[in-house]
This record gives sequence, structure tokens and C-alpha cells, in this order.
Amino acid sequence: MRRIVIIGGGVAGLSAGIFAQKNGFESIILEKHHTLGGECTGWDRQGYHIDGCIHWLVGTKEGTPLRELWNTVGALEGIDIYQPDSFMAVEHNDEVVHFYRDINRLKSSWLEISPEDKDIIIEFCEDIKSLQSFNMPTGKPMDMMNIIEKIKYLLSMKDVGMIMKKYDKVTFSEFASRFKHPALKMAIQSFMPEGEYSVSSIIFALGTFTGDQSSIPIGGSKAMAQRMVEEYNTLGGVVRASSEVVDIDIINGEVKSVRCVNGHLYEGDYFIAACDANAFYEKLLKGKYQDPEFQKRFNDPILYPLASNIYVGIGYEGTMENIPRTLKFPVKSLNILQGDKPIEHLQMTHYAYEAEFAPKGHTVITFAINQFQEELEKWKSLDSDKAAYRAEKERIGQEVIRAMGERFPEMIGKLKLLDVASPQTYEHYCNAYRGAFMGFWPTIEGKQLQHSGNIKGLNNLVLSGQWLQPPGGLPIAVITGKDTIMRLCKKLKKPFIGA
Ligand SMILES: Cc1cc2nc3c(=O)[nH]c(=O)nc-3n(C[C@H](O)[C@H](O)[C@H](O)COP(=O)(O)OP(=O)(O)OC[C@H]3O[C@@H](n4cnc5c(N)ncnc54)[C@H](O)[C@@H]3O)c2cc1C
Repeated sequence: MRRIVIIGGGVAGLSAGIFAQKNGFESIILEKHHTLGGECTGWDRQGYHIDGCIHWLVGTKEGTPLRELWNTVGALEGIDIYQPDSFMAVEHNDEVVHFYRDINRLKSSWLEISPEDKDIIIEFCEDIKSLQSFNMPTGKPMDMMNIIEKIKYLLSMKDVGMIMKKYDKVTFSEFASRFKHPALKMAIQSFMPEGEYSVSSIIFALGTFTGDQSSIPIGGSKAMAQRMVEEYNTLGGVVRASSEVVDIDIINGEVKSVRCVNGHLYEGDYFIAACDANAFYEKLLKGKYQDPEFQKRFNDPILYPLASNIYVGIGYEGTMENIPRTLKFPVKSLNILQGDKPIEHLQMTHYAYEAEFAPKGHTVITFAINQFQEELEKWKSLDSDKAAYRAEKERIGQEVIRAMGERFPEMIGKLKLLDVASPQTYEHYCNAYRGAFMGFWPTIEGKQLQHSGNIKGLNNLVLSGQWLQPPGGLPIAVITGKDTIMRLCKKLKKPFIGA
């Protein structure tokens, strides 16, 4: 039996492992961390569970191809799905702008706030509507399609393509400026207050959300990843946790084995790197098999920015029934990283719908604060002084609690700081370059990368995971894991078993 060694036990590595086992390979997953799941995870602190990932999972709608794929890898089969009625609510002065799931309700609530924005509101809602029934392709990857399949695929993408083209070159600021009302402007602008980020990403997200395609699996991210681990084990897959791969033995363009930090060697016929792309090219391949497409992107963080955040977990001794699950509210003079760029809004998510995440009568709350290139570099240098790094994380956590108290005076004295993750946390735990938790973020001038994972000069080692297709995220991780095994089956002239 042919043996596949998979480097990385995130969603992509698990997906590749599950399809490897289904297709008659013998496989092993080597994971750096003691727990599998990669960035799809959560952690327990002081009696609370902090969900560290899923805000929206595309593919929760029954009967869609992506839902079928999630079921096949054991992630969602039989799992209850929580469907909040609002994507986010944004407060501005006396107004609250809701991004409702029901697009007609969104439209009427926005028209109520600003009748003079009627034309742009209607256009915005119509464009979102036209993306509602879009199904993320989960069949063959493009590079495996014949000409007829490619034509069919491109025709099926026509409507989406037109909308994306309309918004691809529009920044958040530019789009916000088309609205007259300050609250609507702010609601759009607050997604990406700076930079050349393309507004198409949020139009797409709202299309899937209002089309009921994306919601939240009950139990959260870590439980979902653990179900994939169970599926993999049931199929006979082998997992080695706490096994960071540090060296790859290559002879004449063939990988013979990989060596883990604990000294163990693993030989195989095929190797899949389902880990961070930069760590793979720079650390594991030691810069010897550079890919110009990736190099170009890593060398230009303005055109190809990476997404990361500070993630603050807070325990609240109380319940939050009447507060939207995700709420953005203005804050006064909140300085992050002792920086010169004060934060103007905080984005809060609460987990009142998850009975198991907090003691009875309590609620766990998280805050995600976007971090950009400048901050990522500051975090990197701060990390070299552990005491200063910890102190800054604690300071930020307490600042968030102070800001919460200003917005919700009734919560003062009932909020407890549980944890603060920084971009460096993702690097420490997942080898994530600059703390990136998605692939390259779409900008108006950036070209979208579509990569097969092949490495020039290497026959039996490929890259898989969120870096292969923009903008990354869990759907891309699960799809690319499967695609990697599909390509291998094709190479070996074996029929692919997808169910
Ligand atoms: C705060 C946050 C919120 C998010 N929200 C969402 C969301 O709402 N929806 C969504 O779709 N996505 C979301 N994401 C993104 C999502 O988590 C990632 O896109 C996805 O988990 C990536 O999966 P992956 O398997 O490609 O990579 P990873 O999860 O990075 O997995 C790679 C694995 O490889 C391991 N590894 C790295 N180097 C080595 C080595 N040398 N040897 C062995 N193992 C190694 C790592 O430890 C890791 O386990 C979020 C992420 C974060 C951090």
C-alpha cells in the first residue's frame, strides 16, 4: 500500500488524510501542536471555553455540495446549526445598523435610517441577493477539468463573476462614500477602515449569509475539528501529535523522509505539506524551491496583505439575551500596542447560545481586533521580550474591559479577563507566518492566486490548504485537502472515491 505523510493536522491536513484513507492509501498526520485542528480550535480558561475560530462557516446549508463535503469528512453530520438573524450590528451615534440575514429586513431597516440612500441601498441588496444561491465548487479543481468541464464551470460562475467584477476594484472607503448617511457609511467602512482592501469580500460574505449558506455549528470550532480527527481515526488514519517536522530529506527531486523535532523519521511515497506556505518554503524547504507566485506575494504586503488579529476572551457573570451576537460599538481612546493609531470601534461576539461554553448564568465574550502589517511587525519584535509581550497583552485585555464597562455600565465588576491571543500566538502554535489566519486578503490591485500545490523540482511533495486559493478560510482548507488527493489519484490513474 502506498504511504502518504501529511505535515500539519489542521482542517486541510485532516481532509487530505480522510480522503487518502478513503482512497486506499496508508496515511499518517504529523502535527506540531498537542491538539489537532490547527487554527480551527478553541481553548478552556477558568471554567469558560473560548472559541478561537468559526464566526461563519460557509457550507452549513443542507443539500449544498459544500455541506455534503463537510458531512463526508465527519465535520457536520447530525450537528445542530445555530443561525443568528444578524451578521453584525454596528452602532453609530444613536443609530444601530443591522446586517440582517433576511435581506428584505436589512433593506427596510436601512431605508428607515436613510431614505435619501434609497438607490444605493436597493442596488446593494439586489447584488447581495444575486449571490445567495451561489454554491462553492467542490467537484474537480480547475487544473483537472477538461475543456467541456471548464466551459460548464465558467458558465456556472457567470453571475457571481459579474458581481465580483463590479466590486473587485472598489475599496471599502470608496463604497462607504456612496452612502450619504454617516451611520451607513460607518457600518461599511468599519469592516476595513484603511488600505486598499476590496469590498467584494464582504459582498460575497453577505451573499452566503443571507442565502442561509453560512451559519455556526453548535459545539464550536474545536469540537468540529475533533469530529474530523475521529473520522480519520475510524478510517484507519494515524496521528502523531507534538511532532513538528523540522527537516525534509530530498534526493534527486524525491522526498525520502521527514524528520520531526523529537528525532523521529517518517518515510513515505508521497508527502503533503498542509501547513503555512511561508513556513513551508522558507523553513522546511530552506528557500531552495521558491515559487515566484508566492514570493511575489510575500514580498509585497501592501498589495497582498495578511489578516491577523488580537483575540480577547472575557467571562461575563451575566446573560446577554437582547444583545446581537456580533456587535461593533464605538470606543474612546483605546490604544493598542502603545501605538499611534487609536482604535475607534470594538467588535464583540458573545456565545449566549452555547450552554457548554460558560458556567450557568454566565456568558463568554470574545473581541477580535484586526492587525495590519505595521502592527504585525511590532508584535514580532515585542515577542522577543517575553515580560513586555505578556504585559502588553494584559494591558490590552484590561483596556477592552474598561471600554466594555463604558458601553455596558451594568457589566462593570462582572467582567473577567480570560485570555489575550496576539498574532504571535498563531505563529507560536501553528507556525502561521505573521499570525495570518487566512490566505492573502483580496485588494483592488492584487491578483488572486489559484495554485495546484505542485512544487517545481519535486515529484512527490505538494502543498495543500488555505494558501492555495483566495481568501483561504475553512471551506478552502477542506476543499484543497480533498483536491490534493484527487490530483494524486489522477497521477496514479486511480479512480477517486469522494464519498
Ligand atoms: C480568530 C480566527 C477566526 C477565524 N474565523 C473563521 C471563520 O469564521 N470562518 C472560516 O471559514 N475561517 C475562519 N478562520 C480561518 C480558519 O481557521 C483557517 O482558514 C483554517 O483553519 C486553515 O486551515 P489549514 O488546515 O489550511 O491551516 P492551519 O489551520 O494553519 O493548519 C496547519 C497545521 O499545520 C501545523 N504545522 C505547521 N507547521 C508544521 C510543521 N512543521 N510540522 C507539523 N505541523 C505543522 C500547524 O500547527 C497547524 O495545525 C479564522 C481563523 C482565526 C484565527
